[in-house]
Amino acid sequence: LIQLYQPLNFVGFVYRELKQGLVDMEQMFSLLRTPQEISDRADAKTLPARGAPVPVEFVDVRFGYSPDREILHGISFRAEPGRKIALVGPTGSGKSTISRLLFRFYDVSEGAVLVDGIDVRDLTQASLRAAIGVVPQDTVLFNDSIRYNIAYGRPGASDAEVERAARLAQIHDFIMSLPQGYATTVGERGLKLSGGEKQRVAIARTILKDPRLLILDEATSALDTATEQDIGAALRQVARDRTTLVIAHRLSTVIDADEILVLRDGNIVERGTHASLLAAGGIYAAMWAAQSEQIEAASAEQDLATGP
Ligand code: ADP
Repeated sequence: LIQLYQPLNFVGFVYRELKQGLVDMEQMFSLLRTPQEISDRADAKTLPARGAPVPVEFVDVRFGYSPDREILHGISFRAEPGRKIALVGPTGSGKSTISRLLFRFYDVSEGAVLVDGIDVRDLTQASLRAAIGVVPQDTVLFNDSIRYNIAYGRPGASDAEVERAARLAQIHDFIMSLPQGYATTVGERGLKLSGGEKQRVAIARTILKDPRLLILDEATSALDTATEQDIGAALRQVARDRTTLVIAHRLSTVIDADEILVLRDGNIVERGTHASLLAAGGIYAAMWAAQSEQIEAASAEQDLATGP
């Protein structure tokens, strides 16, 4: 009986991992309709889902969604274990495409994507995706309790584990202030959460999942500047000791990145730390100046509206 049970258990495991991967994929790539068929090599290795942070490397990556239109024209960078790389640049410059290649939703046409020094084409997709956590722009909540929505990051997590994650994501106090606490139903047919609260749920989920790699897809418009600053601490908490790729729309959150890559039309046009890029006085410095002006204008407007 034991012999029969073991493989079934394994199938259950694979199914759960796949399902989790699919939900992450759905959340992050909802705009993506039909990814091409990618299959595992017969001798593909398994990347352990948990453990020490791993390095990520793009080696002269070229890629196009169709053969006649190349989108990435030779992208190279390396994120050391536990470090944070930020991708900035206008819409369509290739930021999301880079994160999709890290997930191996597509194969590169030239070059390689390495995770822990291993070409992602030599890893099983299920194990690669299980090792990557995503905090998406807009989190999908299930019509279920807030506890269920957080525990989704790791099915079978204990109540204590869920609460610990919620504390780290700084949403525990909010949950406790609700009449039914963790049993409160959220989602379409339950309590509507704000953009910031939903993102905290996503952060708590990811803390529970405890992935070795993290992709933060920063919200474009879901959060106002105040909420975004407020959520910064929770984001830093989830990114701690994890190799992190941030797709940044606002520059305020990339200041502490180990390297910032400025993308334009599928090329890295500038790279460096916040300080070095400001000193260089190029595209990044101009983006920074423009955004600072916007923020100042917005807060001046708010001061006018609310009075002194
Ligand atoms: P960003 O995240 O910086 O806004 P993307 O990586 O989404 O940029 O897009 C880079 C380029 O690839 C754009 O020209 C976009 O139109 C194109 N693109 C993105 N996704 C697809 C897709 N699924 N099929 C074909 N082209 C795509």
